[in-house]
Amino acid sequence: MTALDGSQGKVSCPQCGGENVLPTGTSLLLCAFCGASVFVDRSQVVIHYRVPRLIDEAQAREALRRWMAGNSTVKDLDRLATLGTVEPLSFPMWLFRFQDASGESVIVEPGAATPIGELADLDLPAGKLDPFGDGEAGVESIAVSVPLATAKGWLAQRTKAGGQLAEQALVHVPLWRCDYQYQGKPYVALVEASTGRAMASIFPAKAESPYVAVAVLGFILFLIEGIVFKNPFLKAFVYAATAVPVLALAYWVTRKV
Ligand SMILES: [Zn+2]
Repeated sequence: MTALDGSQGKVSCPQCGGENVLPTGTSLLLCAFCGASVFVDRSQVVIHYRVPRLIDEAQAREALRRWMAGNSTVKDLDRLATLGTVEPLSFPMWLFRFQDASGESVIVEPGAATPIGELADLDLPAGKLDPFGDGEAGVESIAVSVPLATAKGWLAQRTKAGGQLAEQALVHVPLWRCDYQYQGKPYVALVEASTGRAMASIFPAKAESPYVAVAVLGFILFLIEGIVFKNPFLKAFVYAATAVPVLALAYWVTRKV
């Protein structure tokens, strides 16, 4: 495998094996022999890629609007939210490629701390990876704060990780960071810039209390009927008669809330 020779400050390129001098004060370098982008994490050296940015700002705004109009957020969020800035950034992920008899599998772990949980669970978009190089011009790339060893520790806890580790790499995933306001409060959503998937950890979600109220009401009614009516046929009839208005109420709540 690859190694970092601390005394000489030299790193072997994981792609071609060429010996490069590690510039001081940075963990990024371009291999002088094959041109690969290389990231140095303590004693390990990996290739550094980035996922191409396929979604532009206008498309990101449209993806955000669709997400706001969808079912996971509060009703009419797309109309009621005030959209602020939409800015590009890129987020680091550790990539692990496994090879076994059945083929290849890829697992990613976050390379930086994130308050957005979905980012930690992000699957790497399929398709070509570009060399990271100097990154995207004018785009903030979030620095790696999770060491490779930590990510490998998380990997070991996963059950689906199996087979021979064929490659480990660092990949920056392109995102659009979207600021918006809803009822006077600021929120942040992210749009993944290769597929257009929108995500956020904290957003104006549908209120849950009306759903809970309907469920509790239905439970209490069935409980009382179960005690009052002993005849199984009568009980079935009363249950059915109760279920219709409870379901209608649930439907009404779904539409109104
Ligand atoms: Zn090289």
